[in-house]
Amino acid sequence: MTKEYLEEIVSSEEIQKTVKKIADKITNDYINEKLVLIGVLKGGFVFLSDLMRNLKFDINVDFIFVSSYGDKMNSTGVVKIVKDIDFTIENKHVIIVEDIIDTGLTLRYLKELFKTRNPASVKICTIFDKPSKRKVEIDIDYNGIVLEDEFVVGYGLDYAEKYRNLPNLCLLKLEK
Ligand code: 5GP
Repeated sequence: MTKEYLEEIVSSEEIQKTVKKIADKITNDYINEKLVLIGVLKGGFVFLSDLMRNLKFDINVDFIFVSSYGDKMNSTGVVKIVKDIDFTIENKHVIIVEDIIDTGLTLRYLKELFKTRNPASVKICTIFDKPSKRKVEIDIDYNGIVLEDEFVVGYGLDYAEKYRNLPNLCLLKLEK
């Protein structure tokens, strides 16, 4: 049987400090605008819920459920929309809120998709970034913590649906 080990690489305190910094920037940039935060499920909901509670103005929230990973640790590059957003984004400013950007394929797809729906603007916000595995160039407008190319879990991120509830970010090591 394979044993799973966790090793903390980002503490909950550091994550919360980073979330606050990003929220302050967003508040500064959008305080007088109509803003919709679109969380990417499943992983993005933890970051989105912390982020929105640190914003100092009224916003709307929606979610899109995409699946690209399944239970595996490598991206297939195939993005499937399991559930679309519920509301129109026409003439509204959109920030897509993601847990982690790896190859960039998911975000590129989503940004292009939302741009076809006539929003005022579309920006990208992520709490974690793994730039070394990027397959497509992507501009991250609000970037949190840059990581090495390692598989991580916690703070919304899972391994076979486990570990999403950890408040910190951990490396997952598998041993036979
Ligand atoms: P991308 O399309 O940028 O390759 O992948 C983005 C999605 O892949 C993330 O939203 C996340 O669901 C998943 N992903 C990428 N890297 C990791 C990782 O290190 N751990 C986990 N649990 N998921 C990851």
